[in-house]
Amino acid sequence: MLNQRATELGSAPNKIRELFAYGLKRKAEIGEENVFDFSIGNPSVPAPDAVAESIAELIKEPPCALHGYTPSPGAAGPRQAVADNISRRFGIDATADQVYLTAGAAAGLAIGIYAITNPGDEIMVIAPYFPEYAVWAETAGCTTIEVPAHEPDFQMDIDAIDAAFTPKTAGIIINSPNNPVGAVYTRENLEALAALLSRKEEEYGHPIYLISDEPYREITYGAEVPYVPTLYKHTIVCYSYSKSLSLPGERIGYIYVSNLMDNAKEVYTAVSGAGRALGFICTAVLFQRVMEKCVNEPSDVEAYRANRELLTKGLSELGYEFVEPDGAFYLWVRALESDDEAFCEKAKAHELLLVPATCFKSHGWVRISYCVSADVIKRSMPAFKALMEEYK
Ligand code: PLP
Repeated sequence: MLNQRATELGSAPNKIRELFAYGLKRKAEIGEENVFDFSIGNPSVPAPDAVAESIAELIKEPPCALHGYTPSPGAAGPRQAVADNISRRFGIDATADQVYLTAGAAAGLAIGIYAITNPGDEIMVIAPYFPEYAVWAETAGCTTIEVPAHEPDFQMDIDAIDAAFTPKTAGIIINSPNNPVGAVYTRENLEALAALLSRKEEEYGHPIYLISDEPYREITYGAEVPYVPTLYKHTIVCYSYSKSLSLPGERIGYIYVSNLMDNAKEVYTAVSGAGRALGFICTAVLFQRVMEKCVNEPSDVEAYRANRELLTKGLSELGYEFVEPDGAFYLWVRALESDDEAFCEKAKAHELLLVPATCFKSHGWVRISYCVSADVIKRSMPAFKALMEEYK
């Protein structure tokens, strides 16, 4: 018999992917220039030239060595490059033996959740949130506890997190810069969370782990993005080069188990075991090596910054309400009716493809991914205007 839950997951519609597929079909029907596809978070900025140059260099190496297995957590050189990068940027003595290379943040999060929990535990998330968190928690036998963010700034609501704690709480996942909201958690907000988690550790007599999901760390527009391990010792960072180097399809990222933890070695052992249990070992070796060479390449955020300006200016002139985005490439806009799915259907009639908040376990808002060409944003404004007029 097939695994029932796997079959359900495999057949459950992924609304964002469906919308993206609908956009492709619609573009073929009415012309690419007439569809305003804001559905998916695929970087629109090309990877730095150093990526192609590294590949060209690497493929000259003897193929058996180049394409062969590495140790499960990754090759020594790339892990050292990650540790050096963390040490240099964040003032921590990060060591390569605390770095586990992964197939993007997705694998890192699945591993991290599995490593810090036992079946029956609870994992807290801040809603709205990246919906796969709940899938990975469930796979680890855990329950996802959703704690709504504080509105209207979408910072973490520390009192609500406090109230959601139970003796079964194993950890919390946070994501800043945030998908889908674009919020960046302030230092003050993170410090308040760290103080709360430390109090709860004392109260329950065991570590509470903080998983910091950071694929958008470098995509910011001036806001400070504090390094979470420097604020809270029981932190596991799940990082990815999908957005910072525009390499989402290459599946390369890492887990960093903070050296500042008192039980860092044990947690890393559990991470390694979780990688083994889930089959995430020896991530794609060519991109381990590419990453080693490109780890210090700066992220190019200028196109996203320009898009952010265009979109926020255009939409505020039309009277839309949104959360001022400090990071990532998403704009969180209030739907013009309480039913965000119905609103997105109406937007579709204007060829505007927006993602409803329900996809992120929230309601009343929509997400606009502005990792598109500036031209799409400019040309979409009459459609946003017509949509607004429908509601007047
Ligand atoms: N976490 C968040 C918040 C994301 O938005 C994404 C991808 O969009 C991921 C994790 C997974 O990223 P990756 O491509 O590195 O697996």
